[in-house]
Amino acid sequence: MNLSDVKKKIEASSTVAVVEEVFKKIEETHDLNAYISTCKDRALKAAAATDERHRNGKSLSVLDGIPIAVKDNMCIEGIKTTCASRILENFVSPYTATAVAKLEAAGAIVVGKTNMDEFAMGSSNETSYFGKVLNPLAKDRVPGGSSGGSAVAVASETVALALGSDTGGSIRQPAACTGTVGIKPTYGRVSRYGLVAYASSLDQIGAFSSSVKDLVPVLDFMCGQDARDNTTVARSAANFGKHIGEGIKGKVIGLPREYYAEGLDKKCREAIEAALGKLEKEGAILKEVSLPSIRYAIESYYIIATAEASSNLSRFDGIRYTHRSKEAKNLMETYAMSRGEGFGSEVKLRILLGNYVLSSGFYDAYYVQAQKVRRIITEDFDKAFLECDVIASPAMPGLPQPLGKCEEDHLSMVLSDLYTVSVNLAGLPGLVQPCNKLDGCSIGLQWIGKSFDEATLLNIGDAAEQVF
Ligand code: GLN
Repeated sequence: MNLSDVKKKIEASSTVAVVEEVFKKIEETHDLNAYISTCKDRALKAAAATDERHRNGKSLSVLDGIPIAVKDNMCIEGIKTTCASRILENFVSPYTATAVAKLEAAGAIVVGKTNMDEFAMGSSNETSYFGKVLNPLAKDRVPGGSSGGSAVAVASETVALALGSDTGGSIRQPAACTGTVGIKPTYGRVSRYGLVAYASSLDQIGAFSSSVKDLVPVLDFMCGQDARDNTTVARSAANFGKHIGEGIKGKVIGLPREYYAEGLDKKCREAIEAALGKLEKEGAILKEVSLPSIRYAIESYYIIATAEASSNLSRFDGIRYTHRSKEAKNLMETYAMSRGEGFGSEVKLRILLGNYVLSSGFYDAYYVQAQKVRRIITEDFDKAFLECDVIASPAMPGLPQPLGKCEEDHLSMVLSDLYTVSVNLAGLPGLVQPCNKLDGCSIGLQWIGKSFDEATLLNIGDAAEQVF
């Protein structure tokens, strides 16, 4: 279901009718567990207001009346934001995240908050306190994480658009697993105000859709500088669709040697190469490039991300807005027991690891080294982009994992982040789209772009969508 299908439906009936249908669909697909909560009354009120505007010929934008789903780590005033954690089970946000507020100002209607890995930590969407999310393409396999709920909300056609967040692949991996399109914009494009922080120097809000073009209006409205997030950059709101239609002919696609190597499942590799071959036939130029430092990306990412997480999550202390242990008898016990009861094991693991790499004896050996590696990875990308317009890579090393596998084999989950984390370390934009099929699963292709060059990614993605 894409944006124009929804718009046609609204024209043929009404926004209220379309929103009612969304909630019916959410009910019907309940077993997928894509949503943690829904906000029907609020959405229907907004829908009635849209219909009123439409009647008066005063539509706010192309997104006016379009139902969207929002990952449950973005605050919306008056609505629960749980981060899929027991510690925030009853937390009601006092304000709205800028990204969501901007889309609502354009007329988009939030229908619910989507399921995710607890605090966005994971790649399989199995660590949620509210239960795992199922992949509609293969219910015995994971939908990818951590924004699995948002991906499944789009894949199961409850909504045409959903917001996610991506710290190390959490939009791109679930897009790959569910056959949807997902974009993580350049770091600094989208305000993180109101996004519950996992690792602040890596986190970025992005979106899911079923077609590349549909991401254009989302980015057009959502991006831009925000006085409430001083990591947002002062770039005039770009017209993200400005290159769409230019096509792929003559575009140089860089293929990092280190990505099409050991670690990538053979059949997946063939499926991706077949897709790239089709683009070559359309006039794209395939060129091998090199990202030599990429083999240190996972180590560097997991040191930096956990270090930042251990600091960010220290605010959940049982005192202010979180779960508070009923057993605690004094202040120290309140901290320890509230956090002990409130956080799941994956989150605890990351907090421990983060505190370890930041501790005085190990800071230089791990954290400082990881920051140096991060710089080198960024420079590797800069060099590669001297030779190509975009980079094409796998999004995942293989098919989506069978349910339960990540818990059994934690390392394999961590290693499955190989192709995505480096993009966050370098702050670059990344787009994933379905490019082929294998054993009933969808195979995703990742496009990595130069900083702030989302417009090129969207053009290439759109051209490739027509070929695939
Ligand atoms: N899988 C990665 C992690 O667990 C990325 C998660 C994300 O992008 N939020 O850290």
